[in-house]
Amino acid sequence: PKKQREFAVWVVKQLRKAGFIAYWAGGCVRDQLLGRTPKDYDVATNALPEQVREIFGHRRTFAVGAAFGVITVNGPKGAGQIEVATFRSDLGYSDGRHPDRVVFSSPREDALRRDFTINGLFYDPIEERVIDYVGGVEDIRQRIIRAIGDPYQRFAEDKLRMLRAVRFVAELQFTLDPHTAAAIRDLVHQIREVSQERILMELERLFVAPGRVEGLRLFRELGFLDVLLPELKPDTQEREPVWALNLRILGALPDPDFPVAFAAVARKLVQPGELSPICKRLRMSNQVTDKIVWLVEHEGDLDRAHLRPWSEVQPLLISPWIHDLLKLAETRAIQEGQNDLAGFEWCRERLRWPPEKLNPPFLLKGDDLHALGLPPGPIYREILQEVRRAQLDGVLQSREAALEWVQRKLKSMNGVGE
Ligand code: ATP
Ligand code: MG
Repeated sequence: PKKQREFAVWVVKQLRKAGFIAYWAGGCVRDQLLGRTPKDYDVATNALPEQVREIFGHRRTFAVGAAFGVITVNGPKGAGQIEVATFRSDLGYSDGRHPDRVVFSSPREDALRRDFTINGLFYDPIEERVIDYVGGVEDIRQRIIRAIGDPYQRFAEDKLRMLRAVRFVAELQFTLDPHTAAAIRDLVHQIREVSQERILMELERLFVAPGRVEGLRLFRELGFLDVLLPELKPDTQEREPVWALNLRILGALPDPDFPVAFAAVARKLVQPGELSPICKRLRMSNQVTDKIVWLVEHEGDLDRAHLRPWSEVQPLLISPWIHDLLKLAETRAIQEGQNDLAGFEWCRERLRWPPEKLNPPFLLKGDDLHALGLPPGPIYREILQEVRRAQLDGVLQSREAALEWVQRKLKSMNGVGE
């Protein structure tokens, strides 16, 4: 991070030496003023893209966003990359997603094309001076997310900005300017025009952000829940307290990842079969979808784990997601005011067992059934599962006993068939 910053200073110096204006721009200026470590540094300059490449050499640069005048400059080891963008205005936005074209322009116009005042700042790292054309410094001081210019126009240009506003509220724990909020409320249905991929990227950050609870309240209040996740809407008397509980769970979870956070919000609000199609619609990966579905499905299975057959609990405990399930279930139990947490402690104890005790090798394999003369088929899975259950519950304790059990079962099955 320190190397990255030094490199970002160096990039500005090189551009200045070549006679150009150059500033840090956007998120990194905001983060620096907030005392946060910027994820990456962006530089804005009046040098044209080709001039930027000249200055830093064609071998260290890469024209990623050529159409927008963005050049990536590779730093030395550990310093990452920096995007150097020529000051520009974005024109046209006829699709509500991308500018039709850009024209290179001045620092002031470049600030005005940005989304929110807090993101519209420049910083001169040589003179150590902030350049503010949009009132961003004051809004950072007051912790406000405010659209630059007319919010209606700015959201009509690029509808994703509406969702970015909520995400920034959640990530920075800022409040939303009322005029900006009013515009979003009016235009929120247009968020549908944005690609599901870009929406998902924002949701993934919103759900895990430090201000995720406030963020989701705002998400609902502005109408995003109706448009993007109508299935989760707490639109009845019984569902309202579930939504409230779920937000408390979400807030109490320590550093949840996205699937855990989403499961916390969705639990008890969607029908079991409904969840996977929602995840698919939002273009979540199979891995993320599977994890969410599994967490919601089993979230209630651990409270009384110590009173249930081991064969039902053990498969949960050997899941790679068991620690997330435990955290979610226990957090929910606590938020519900449950004071008997014995089931969770019991699970944790078992999770400390050595692997061969927690998950002993199977007594039988498919080959064993084959050797007994059973023709392969779906019945294999069923029998092996039944043997596994009996093994875990202590009914079958040896391979011999298991083989005998299967033989008896086959005889009785044949008996039925005869
Ligand atoms: P972070 O990287 O922490 O999400 P950021 O502010 O750096 O925050 P980016 O998406 O990386 O956000 O964008 C960099 C800058 O580009 C922003 O600070 C903003 O000035 C501008 N920007 C990004 N997306 C938009 C948009 N949709 N409309 C207008 N300006 C945007
Ligand atoms: Mg950024």
